[in-house]
Amino acid sequence: MLQKWLRDKLQGYIIDIANRVLPQRMHELEVQHCLYAKKVIVKILRKNILGLCYPGYKTIILSPRIILLPQRYWDTIILHEMAHLKFPHHRKAFWSFLTILLGEDFKLQKDRMDTMMGIFYNYSEFLLK
Ligand SMILES: [Zn+2]
Repeated sequence: MLQKWLRDKLQGYIIDIANRVLPQRMHELEVQHCLYAKKVIVKILRKNILGLCYPGYKTIILSPRIILLPQRYWDTIILHEMAHLKFPHHRKAFWSFLTILLGEDFKLQKDRMDTMMGIFYNYSEFLLK
């Protein structure tokens, strides 16, 4: 009972904060890269999904779980979704463009994130079912 209460409280709190900080951070990145979405939505997505992009609608959906990650990974996820505004696939052109946005080879960032994600998913799954 106590754990459920605590989890509900934490969940509400995390979602509130995510709604404030993620669209704001994305807007900063939009200005920085002159790449704009029409809409950004913060919403819990199914396990392992931290972001989605609907290029046809220029809409990006970000999971509130992102804010549980170390802050340096926020941009990696947000920029990945923003790159889909231009390239709605995962072909070579997409990864080249993402590397430009990141200012670093996407593979280096991906390796760093993969190492951490196993642990992260377990505890973020506990907090944000
Ligand atoms: Zn993608």
